[in-house]
Amino acid sequence: MVVVMEERASEAQIEQVVSRLVEMGMDVHRSTGVTRTVLGAVGQGHPDPALIELLDGVHEVLRISEPYKLASRTFKPDNTVITVGDVRIGGDEVIVMAGPCSAESEKQVRTTAAAVRRAGAKIFRGGAFKPRSSPYSFQGLGEEGLRLLRDACNAENLQLVSEVMDASQIDVINKYSDIFQVGARNMQNFTLLRELGHVRKPVLLKRGISATIEEWLLSAEYVLSGGNTDVILCERGIRTFETATRNTLDIAAIPIVQKLSHLPVIVDPSHAMGRRDKVAPVARAAVAAGADGLLIEVHCDPDHALSDGAQSMFPSQFDRLMAELRIIAPAIGRSICLEPVARRGWGA
Ligand code: PEP
Ligand code: MN
Repeated sequence: MVVVMEERASEAQIEQVVSRLVEMGMDVHRSTGVTRTVLGAVGQGHPDPALIELLDGVHEVLRISEPYKLASRTFKPDNTVITVGDVRIGGDEVIVMAGPCSAESEKQVRTTAAAVRRAGAKIFRGGAFKPRSSPYSFQGLGEEGLRLLRDACNAENLQLVSEVMDASQIDVINKYSDIFQVGARNMQNFTLLRELGHVRKPVLLKRGISATIEEWLLSAEYVLSGGNTDVILCERGIRTFETATRNTLDIAAIPIVQKLSHLPVIVDPSHAMGRRDKVAPVARAAVAAGADGLLIEVHCDPDHALSDGAQSMFPSQFDRLMAELRIIAPAIGRSICLEPVARRGWGA
């Protein structure tokens, strides 16, 4: 932290700032210029800049290091690569996760899993515990939904990501899912994040609807500081003044986060756009911008989906998107599942 004193700051005021910083666990380096004194504070303390700004004679306080540590690139310069089964997230390959918003029935889950697998997805998504804006909307099938999702993943050789809404659901979800998804509404559920710090499976942490990048990385820090080093960040659109899309996809967050953090960052264009006909263009843009992966809603019969049908792609649209991504990814030096995979398992 750098503290710039006012031009007319007295010696007593400067000494008071120095002693407060020392009390807060910092070493202070003083540099006296022609007009101003500047104090450089380094150390293990975490002084609140606002408290220092309030002191008499202080002109400005500048923070020079991030408030998160374990999530920062300063702490770990190399990219984190997360291994889930035979899938590596954060390496050269762009990983596509796809599936329905919610598990609804055995047929729906199996048909959709087979379709996304055939198109080249490596991870299946599907919620069994759903955070719905209205308490009257479909809330998910609970454990029965997890069982359906797991069976489909086993049949199709897919890994599973499924949402956890509350710490009390961790044990049951842990039995079925390979990755815990923390939804946008729970990004600052600190009790849940702390508990996920103790699980031995990756956490896919969505950005909160109105969260800054710094708040998002601080939420990742909760999981990391509990001992779980496998956090995948997911940009899914934030709420702005714009109403033309469900949310506003912050594509800029991709390179920003990649500079600030070593954690993989993926993009969910479905919840950002809210309409299936607008998902592919931004999915392509996200890969071009350097995202490590995508999380996309696909449904075998989206017009009759119990949640998020309007933004869920038809399998044929998803197929086309995957073909386009096979052109974009290599153009920026990334790989992606090369060919559609032969169908096996359910109904084959
Ligand atoms: C979801 O992935 O279905 C979901 C509810 O996402 P979000 O938390 O981004 O709204
Ligand atoms: Mn959804």
